[in-house]
Amino acid sequence: MIQLSNLKKVFRTEEIDTWALCEVSLEVKEGEFVAIMGPSGCGKSTLLNIMGLLDVPTGGTYMLGGRDVSLLNDTERTKLRRGIIGFVFQSFNLIDELSVYENVELPLLYMGLPARERKERVMQVLDRLAMSHRRKHFPAQLSGGQQQRVAIARAVVSNPKLILADEPTGNLDSTNSKEVMDLLCQLHEQGTTIVMVTHSQHDASFADRIVELYDGQIVQHAEL
Ligand code: ADP
Repeated sequence: MIQLSNLKKVFRTEEIDTWALCEVSLEVKEGEFVAIMGPSGCGKSTLLNIMGLLDVPTGGTYMLGGRDVSLLNDTERTKLRRGIIGFVFQSFNLIDELSVYENVELPLLYMGLPARERKERVMQVLDRLAMSHRRKHFPAQLSGGQQQRVAIARAVVSNPKLILADEPTGNLDSTNSKEVMDLLCQLHEQGTTIVMVTHSQHDASFADRIVELYDGQIVQHAEL
C-alpha cells in the first residue's frame, strides 16, 4: 500500500534548515496496522503528513497504491487524499459550527455524492459507532471520547483504504482510549490499512508492527 524510499524532509527558514526526516525507507502492506513511536520532535507527524498527502517530501520517493505520488501537485494530492485516506487526529479536528451529522457528511460532500446516498452512508456509520442518537448535537455538547468517535466516523464514511491516526487517544482517559482503540482494531480486522502515531506502548501493542523513529531516522522495526 505504502512504499517510502529514502524519504527526506527539510524545513527551511532564513536562519536554519531543520532535517525532520533523513532517508526514511518503509513499507506498509495492504491491511497492515503499523504504529510509529519515538520522542517528541523526531519526525513522526511529518512522516504521517507526507503519507497523508498533506505535505510533500524534499527528496526520495513515495509510492501509494503502486503509484508514485512524490511529485503530485496540490490539486492531484487533494483529490487522491479525499478518495482513499481517512484521518484521525489527537485534537479531533471537528468543525464546532457543524452538527455531528454534518461533520460526518463532509467527506461525502467533497466527493460530490448525491443527497440520498450521503444520508444512507452517514446514518450507517453513525449507527455502527453508536452515535446516531447524537446526530443533531454539536461537538461542544459531546465528551472527548464521543468527539473522537465522531472523528472516526468522519474518517471512515468514505470507505478509505488507509487510515492515518496521529495520537488518536492522546486527549482521552483510559475508558475512552480503550473504546477508540477497539474501533481502530475493528477497522483493521475488516481489512483497512492503519498507520498510527502514538506515545502509548499499550496502544502500540495492538499494531502488527512498531516502527521507532529517532532524529528523523528509523532506528527499529519490531514485529508484534
Ligand atoms: P514529532 O511529531 O515526532 O513530534 P515533528 O514531525 O512534528 O515531530 O517535527 C520534526 C522536526 O521538524 C522538529 O524538529 C520540528 O521542530 C520540525 N518541524 C516540524 N514542522 C515544521 C515546520 N512547519 N517548520 C519548521 N520546522 C518544523
